[in-house]
Amino acid sequence: MKVLVVNCGSSSLKYQVIDSDTEQVAAKGLCERIGIDGRLTYQPAGGEKEVTDAPMPTHNEAIALVLQALTNPKTGVLKSLDEIEAIGHRVLHGGAKLTQSCIVDDDVIAAIDEASDLGPLHNPANLIGIKTCQKLMPGKPNVAVFDTSFGMTLPEYAYRYAIPTEYYEKYHVRRYGFHGTSHSFVSHETIKYLNLDPDNSKVIVCHLGNGASVSAVQNSKAVDTSMGLTPLEGLVMGTRSGDLDPAILQYLCNHEHMDINEMLTVLNKKSGVMALSNGLSSDFRDLENAMNEGNKAAGLAIDAFCYRVAKYIGAYTAAMNGVDAITFTGGIGENAGIVRKKVLAHLGYLGITMDEEANKQRGKTFVLSTPDSKVKVIVLPTNEELAICRDTVRLVNAAKA
Ligand code: ADP
Repeated sequence: MKVLVVNCGSSSLKYQVIDSDTEQVAAKGLCERIGIDGRLTYQPAGGEKEVTDAPMPTHNEAIALVLQALTNPKTGVLKSLDEIEAIGHRVLHGGAKLTQSCIVDDDVIAAIDEASDLGPLHNPANLIGIKTCQKLMPGKPNVAVFDTSFGMTLPEYAYRYAIPTEYYEKYHVRRYGFHGTSHSFVSHETIKYLNLDPDNSKVIVCHLGNGASVSAVQNSKAVDTSMGLTPLEGLVMGTRSGDLDPAILQYLCNHEHMDINEMLTVLNKKSGVMALSNGLSSDFRDLENAMNEGNKAAGLAIDAFCYRVAKYIGAYTAAMNGVDAITFTGGIGENAGIVRKKVLAHLGYLGITMDEEANKQRGKTFVLSTPDSKVKVIVLPTNEELAICRDTVRLVNAAKA
């Protein structure tokens, strides 16, 4: 079955066409600067990457251009849109109602809309993506895959915040967790790769990208995860602060005469390693180069990032009373050897030893720990699009049966 996977951001859209029988990508690409001017990138498997400037006032035009590129008689990978049997959409926040992937109907659309105040940047864009696909490919099933689903198996003592119960009951304020598609995919692939028992295993997944989060996965189910009601909690990230004393908000609002919305913009967009490196960069390639040239702030940013990851690994080892495997994934986890080395340097007490030679590799699956290490540590590239495709096919086939 050919599946179109769509991931709509506020001003961008990533897409892939995946053949679910072979799990190979037939074509992939990106629409950028939607609502500003518009640029389409299209790359057929084994073919040249094409970049075209094209006006995209809304996601509507963006998706229409993607469908045109896919069916272009010269370079398209589809003879007609009929070849697409289903569309899988990444949706950021499922709220309290949407706890697992599902085929989109009017009730699902209403519930995604309802969860928009929890995911104000993403949910509205995700909805536009769904509605546009419904319009341009009528009759094809659309499946919504939520970033928050994987966190739904957390025990109540892990997902509840210690604030008055009425806020949980009235507003569903709880830990949801994000990057769920990635944590789910990577933890399952880790279990397969290391031949662990799916029903008796303890895995910690470190998804380290621009946004970053850690999850504890016991017997194939998430038991804790570092992001919370929103993606702001947890690790130090590219531009997000992660955990901090909430009283800092009041203190800084009073001193800097900011309102709470301005403060949240600071915590989401102007913090993290970008802030610790004094505005140098949120990209670990820049930070590592600067650190090697003696930039102390860049070194501090990398150290603070790695320290927070190590603290979470320690906490999640305690949460599961042990750990069999730790997996690094995401742009930083897959590529930045310096980060893996600095994180693992905190974890000698777990009997972890790292293979320095192995750590020189990047961007593929490999074992990072030495054979005598008490805990297996691996690097495993995430593939959220494939995970969305698999869920889409599973649900569409189940609906047919
Ligand atoms: P997103 O959260 O946007 O999906 P990614 O998982 O793609 O992020 O990660 C992007 C980040 O990965 C970059 O900002 C950069 O810090 C890091 N990164 C990518 N490639 C490398 C590399 N070769 N070396 C070190 N860091 C890298």
